[in-house]
Amino acid sequence: MGRTFISQKKQTKEDMHDALVKNAIDFLDSSLDDLDKRPKNSVVDFYTSIELFLKARLMTEHWTLILSRPELANLDSFQVGDFHSIFLDDAVTRIKNILKQPIGANAIDAFKALGEHRNQIVHFAHTKYQDIQATKASVVAEQWSAWHYLHELLVSDWSPIFDNYLEEFERIHQRMMGQQEFIKARYTAILPQIEIKKKSGFEVENCAHCHMESAIITQKNEWSNDYECMVCGVKDVLIKKTNATIPCQSCGKEFQFFDKELKRCPNCGEEIDHEYVYEMCKERYSQGDEWCEEGGEWIAYCHKCYDDRPSVFYIDSLWSCISCFDRGWRAITCPHCNEFVTGDMDTIKYFACVRCEDKARAEFEESGF
Ligand SMILES: [Zn+2]
Ligand SMILES: [Zn+2]
Ligand SMILES: [Zn+2]
Ligand SMILES: [Zn+2]
Repeated sequence: MGRTFISQKKQTKEDMHDALVKNAIDFLDSSLDDLDKRPKNSVVDFYTSIELFLKARLMTEHWTLILSRPELANLDSFQVGDFHSIFLDDAVTRIKNILKQPIGANAIDAFKALGEHRNQIVHFAHTKYQDIQATKASVVAEQWSAWHYLHELLVSDWSPIFDNYLEEFERIHQRMMGQQEFIKARYTAILPQIEIKKKSGFEVENCAHCHMESAIITQKNEWSNDYECMVCGVKDVLIKKTNATIPCQSCGKEFQFFDKELKRCPNCGEEIDHEYVYEMCKERYSQGDEWCEEGGEWIAYCHKCYDDRPSVFYIDSLWSCISCFDRGWRAITCPHCNEFVTGDMDTIKYFACVRCEDKARAEFEESGF
């Protein structure tokens, strides 16, 4: 990316921020324009847009934060567009460490997946031939998932920073959702093949990416199922569902609350209050698994969404985060910092956990390795 702005006259920092955001919006539009004929260009532009938005967010904190080497910052050069800027990874790290507003792991995963796809396209000219409809479907699904998180950051987490652009975001959102028609048409075209799979004994579920009932279960695991989607081609994992219930805070009727999409009580329509769910879970799921100490910690910090307080309860035989709705990880007390956390056991054991990884990394860097 390197030199982002080419301009003759000096701009104010506000001008530059505005130019950055408008540039990011332009890339979203061109990404959508390219979907039909050049789905691969579409991926590249979409990714560029994400990077620009993250930089715009950093810039509102301080303009030097978007420079690859802030120690060489020079305002005069900056204002004529002569500087090297950072890439996604650094932007994510700075947002987490300097702004103290970590972007959730699921969002980062979605952005990185798009980034990997972009790199394949940019660096390898000859990729395997794929039917353009299938390519488009997978690109649409990938963009939906990245847009879902980006949209959330722009209109809610980072409000009011981007409030001047809400109308534009809404317009893009409508364009993005308009692709649903394409996905549905593709689903209808492929339905006979899905039926054949079903008849030969495969289970079919909803794909987490394109949301069609076209996810063919390829392998069943203890807490999840592997699948491959026939509409968008994505290979992913479906987390095991739970039927666990809590009573509604308003009508008292029990409902299945562990569902990311559920915003209201299915019985009375009252909006579900996260604080209430939290307190209810504390009451109902007041024990950990057999590895937990008697009377010790039983709510774990989540390494997927970095929620500031412990959010992972032992529900229906699996550790389940009520903030990001991920489940199935193991929870232990970190041997380095003593916090009760979820995560990959080896990483925690040999490196650090979600609560102490920043400190561990800083110490590692200081030690000169
Ligand atoms: Zn799919
Ligand atoms: Zn209710
Ligand atoms: Zn979580
Ligand atoms: Zn730790």
